[in-house]
Amino acid sequence: MRLTAQRTVLSSALAGVLVLGAAAGYAVSADLTGNGDARRIAGDQTSTVRAELRGGAARNVILLIGDGMGDSEITAARNYQYGAAGRLPGIDGVPVTGQYTTYSLDRSTHEPDYVTDSAASGSGWSTGTKTYNGAISVDVDGAAQKTVLEMAKANGLRTGDVSTAELQDATPAVLVSHVSDRGCYAPSSSACTDADRLETGGPGSITEQLLNTRPDVTLGGGAASFADTARAGQWKGKTLMQQADARGFDVVTDAAGLSGATRADQSAPLLGLFSGGNMPTEWNGAPATRTGGTEAPIRCAANPAHTAAVPTLKAMTTKAIDLLDAPSAKKGFFLQVEGASIDKQDHAANPCAQIGETVAFDDAVAAALAFAEQDGNTSVFVTADHGHSSQIVYPGTTTPGLTRTLLTADGAPMTMAYGTAPEGGSQDHTGTQVRIAAYGPGAANVVGLTDQTDLFFTMRDTLRLDPDKELPGAPEIRSVNINDGAVLRGNKTFVVTLDAPAKYTYIELNQGGVWKTDNTKAPGSTNAGSKPTLKIDTRDYPDGTYSLKIDAVGIDGRTTEKVLDLEIRNH
Ligand SMILES: [Mg+2]
Ligand SMILES: [Zn+2]
Repeated sequence: MRLTAQRTVLSSALAGVLVLGAAAGYAVSADLTGNGDARRIAGDQTSTVRAELRGGAARNVILLIGDGMGDSEITAARNYQYGAAGRLPGIDGVPVTGQYTTYSLDRSTHEPDYVTDSAASGSGWSTGTKTYNGAISVDVDGAAQKTVLEMAKANGLRTGDVSTAELQDATPAVLVSHVSDRGCYAPSSSACTDADRLETGGPGSITEQLLNTRPDVTLGGGAASFADTARAGQWKGKTLMQQADARGFDVVTDAAGLSGATRADQSAPLLGLFSGGNMPTEWNGAPATRTGGTEAPIRCAANPAHTAAVPTLKAMTTKAIDLLDAPSAKKGFFLQVEGASIDKQDHAANPCAQIGETVAFDDAVAAALAFAEQDGNTSVFVTADHGHSSQIVYPGTTTPGLTRTLLTADGAPMTMAYGTAPEGGSQDHTGTQVRIAAYGPGAANVVGLTDQTDLFFTMRDTLRLDPDKELPGAPEIRSVNINDGAVLRGNKTFVVTLDAPAKYTYIELNQGGVWKTDNTKAPGSTNAGSKPTLKIDTRDYPDGTYSLKIDAVGIDGRTTEKVLDLEIRNH
């Protein structure tokens, strides 16, 4: 009996946090040759599983997406880092599992497209609506579909969107924007259509919509798009970074800045931009080639580009949870975390970088799970958006595609094969169903076979979100207590009625474009609340035509302007 220690850990897997500390070195696996030595469970699991199936509502939901993380990618990462009989501390510690289908729809025929991309699949769990490849939270006809993050925010929850990719990339974008083509990153992106662009009446590029949707915490790469310039709207002519500054975002650009952040809310949302494009991978190694499978097995190395200035996905996840978790607040939070480059390195046929990103993602899952277990009122969902190319094939062989052999934690060779594109091409997604795992209230809704779109409804219902609640836009000026062209004499208090309290409302009396007074100067006036005022005595001003200029500024910087003409006639 050599497995006692490991068995103890494994049998507690369903109930608690898993830390399989010593597994990262070489050849750590126990002798697996005896009867029952490779078992992962000890005895009957019925009561343990039953205890995990909790109904009811959750205060918080954390959704973790491994992009392109099919079963093959999970198995390869486990084999490499923890050994064949080991466990991924995060992913394998999420107790309730099932499978879900990921297919998308053909845009014109509406028939199933058996291989999804990250845009259609993300739109599926973000909105509950199946759509076409390339769509960002719009349906097959291009109509915007409300996202789970928008719904959470409209219901008073705090929200977060974290990724190792560019923030404009499909997976983070599906929560905060609605565009017909996933390439519509910024105002000058050629992929934007007239339906998307601000200057043609659309909601704007992904980056502009991200600033409007304004999650409390947004962390990832994609700084380059913020250098682009708005072509229409309130911030026309300003860069998107200038807009972010003007609208109160706290921008951090490195690990130290992130760890120094102490608050993130609607007055000052946290925007972490840690790379111009996608963030660097944590590991690197030789990519797969036509003959790589027969070459000497390799071990993976740390990627020097992932310096100490670049936060890990775990660090971003932990900070996001710290900032979003406010036990004294009435409502909880919704947070999505994406390990984006599992997919990107699968495309690149780079098994070391792919596995390193899977292990980094797993660290983030473990952190989320530890929070949920301690919190007691948080559900965690862990899944992928689609399957991908990589396969584990017979050790030391080649295939008609590309291969590379790695030396795993077991000290054994593991050959990875990529065969969905020729050498030099981008290895591509596959149409397999993928694993979904859950912990906490609502976990039972991932059991068996579900569809990607079910996840939206599971999260919405677990958080008890009212789908009809709307996100506030710019302040609405409901009324002003004078009519356009009014003739005034004596003491007058202008009262502006808004739909909701604004950050502030500026009310100015001017004549021919020249400032006369405003509600920051005039005694007895107020620029706060939902009924701001300006008090004047018309006898302080000569007779003539004037105008009343009103700017109602929302907490997110969006402003509604109104101008009324008036006449002062004291005599
Ligand atoms: Mg992605
Ligand atoms: Zn991909």
